[in-house]
Amino acid sequence: MIENAHIYFNQSGTPVADKFDDIYFSIDNGLAESTFVFVEKNKIIERLHDHDQNHFVIAETGFGTGLNFLNTWQQFENSDNKTVKKLHFISFEKYPIKKSDLVKSLAAWPNLKPYTEKLIALYPVAMQGCHRLEFASGTIVLDLWFGDIKDTLPQICFQEKGIIDAWYLDGFAPSKNPDMWQQSLFNAMADLGRDNCSFATFTASGFVRRGLIKAGFNVQKHKGFGRKREMICGQLTKANDKFSEPKYYPREGVNINKIAIIGGGIATASLALSLSKRDAQFEVFCKDDQVAMGASHNHQGALYPHLQANFSRESQFYAHSFFYARRCFDEILTQGYTFPYQWCGVLLHGINAEKQKRQQSLIEQNNWPNELISYVSPEQASDIANVVTPYSGLFIKHGGWINPPKLIEAMLSYSQANKLFTINTKIKIEKFYQKANLWYLFDGKIEHGPYSQVIVAAGEHSDTFKQTKSLDLHPVRGQVSHVKATEKSAEISTVLCHKGYITPQYLNHHCIGATFTKNSKETHISEDDNNINLKQVTDFYGECEFTDDLNDITSAKAAIRCTSFDHMPLIGQITDIKNYQKSFATLRHGSKYGYLSYNSSTSGLYIFTGLGARGLCSAPLGAELLCSEMFNEPLPIDLAMSEALHPARFIVRDLKRNKI
Ligand code: SAM
Repeated sequence: MIENAHIYFNQSGTPVADKFDDIYFSIDNGLAESTFVFVEKNKIIERLHDHDQNHFVIAETGFGTGLNFLNTWQQFENSDNKTVKKLHFISFEKYPIKKSDLVKSLAAWPNLKPYTEKLIALYPVAMQGCHRLEFASGTIVLDLWFGDIKDTLPQICFQEKGIIDAWYLDGFAPSKNPDMWQQSLFNAMADLGRDNCSFATFTASGFVRRGLIKAGFNVQKHKGFGRKREMICGQLTKANDKFSEPKYYPREGVNINKIAIIGGGIATASLALSLSKRDAQFEVFCKDDQVAMGASHNHQGALYPHLQANFSRESQFYAHSFFYARRCFDEILTQGYTFPYQWCGVLLHGINAEKQKRQQSLIEQNNWPNELISYVSPEQASDIANVVTPYSGLFIKHGGWINPPKLIEAMLSYSQANKLFTINTKIKIEKFYQKANLWYLFDGKIEHGPYSQVIVAAGEHSDTFKQTKSLDLHPVRGQVSHVKATEKSAEISTVLCHKGYITPQYLNHHCIGATFTKNSKETHISEDDNNINLKQVTDFYGECEFTDDLNDITSAKAAIRCTSFDHMPLIGQITDIKNYQKSFATLRHGSKYGYLSYNSSTSGLYIFTGLGARGLCSAPLGAELLCSEMFNEPLPIDLAMSEALHPARFIVRDLKRNKI
């Protein structure tokens, strides 16, 4: 569990960290010092005019109050004629400052107010891992990695060419924070550095200088800021050959010309969001009369993360996805695009002894911030739900429900406003193939293309193509029923989850459900399934007043969810199994070496599916991961998660077990 910083403000109003007995910044000239040491000595502004990528990546040790970030953002925005389109700022923080302390600390810089307000609005909860925050239509990205940098740095995904253009080596004086200023940190800074990666730091301590030289940086001494005698800065001439990702889980960037997306649900809308922020050229192909006709077609979908008591990578993925999705959906609403929704919270009822025990364990293990999920007694639960129920539970206060089809429309319209793209409906792609290294789609009559990449985001239909048919996808039929609200049930004011769920009324109906029928692709409406849905509600809430007369099901929706064997999505390059087996044959003998280079015949093909019943939560971050990968940007997730989501994971598993 991440601990917040303990701060006090000294007589001059300067924030001081209790644990380190050191100040975050000088109240007289902290801003000028940030510019002098970090922005100027890294030559950030000059380099924005002459850079080899659309994005420029700065990484910082110690986010603190975010002053360096805000200052750099302001200077980035004020810099004219730059070729760099996007500032990507990564910052590591062991003890995140509480929001209230952040507000107080940053009040010292009135000139930064417009930026400060935006940061404060999105400032995340103290939860371990990467929080991706986007500002200014995605041209400013802040990846806040909460946790000790000793633990988080080795979890960053990077390849031989590196990802960082400049380091802000901050983090309290070495004498006050010796644990952080270690050779392992300097080595990791070099490993992650791109060609010409620079660094700057306010200290000129001998061991820091020697450590950075040992790691591979050239180091120069400079006169320090104000009364400080010296500081150092320097460069890495060439990226070293280190990489973090196993070669059998490739996520390298590609040259992008125009992308085709096959699909029309939440996965496609999320891709459109992430691609349009990157000004990418793309086109959507949806087989139905309109988008959101498949699994995203429910009247009301609940938005909440699926959490386990332990801090598993699956749970971490859903927890981060949840907050990222909320930020995306809130931004769309802020920009004036509307869809029916209520951020009314989601109440997970402890409907039997076993569930209560699991919920108890989740609270006792204390892996999740209270702000995300908290225990509520039966009385508190009834107050929150506005109807009396006998159960205690766990409450996810930032959750709620959304109307998925309208959400998808809003996401697509918002994306269209960022970047115009075509949505081709009523076109069912039958196959895709490559000619002269470019991809073409064929719909039975017409060939569409060429495209530099194709992303298959077609839910249950994703494995209907030659190149995807061996993917380990499983269909699960689900039916939700719409039951007419009664005077009493209309009082329900939060999403109630028992084994299934019941939503607060919308258009005078509650959504109840859902059924789970494995390996079925049937989408007819079943009376039996309606009865199952209703029976679940009356079984668990039979004694509650709100279920009296709740029995008038007026319609229902059935759809197929696409799931994977391990319930995690598949996000990344489509694997060419034959070549994989050749290239990584030594995995069969447990070897970590001796791989041959992998020349994929499916290069340029991507898969984004397996979202199951959790697409509302996981699609936005999943799409952002895929686009970050394709555009050669830092990934918004850690190494373990990247592997857990990689489409090749089942093949790697089978190779390691010597099964294929
Ligand atoms: N850059 C900050 C700003 O602009 O406000 C000021 C940074 S403050 C001087 C140093 C920060 O480093 C503190 O917030 C502290 O909690 C953080 N820090 C110290 N040791 C750390 C570690 N091992 N891992 C991550 N963050 C650390």
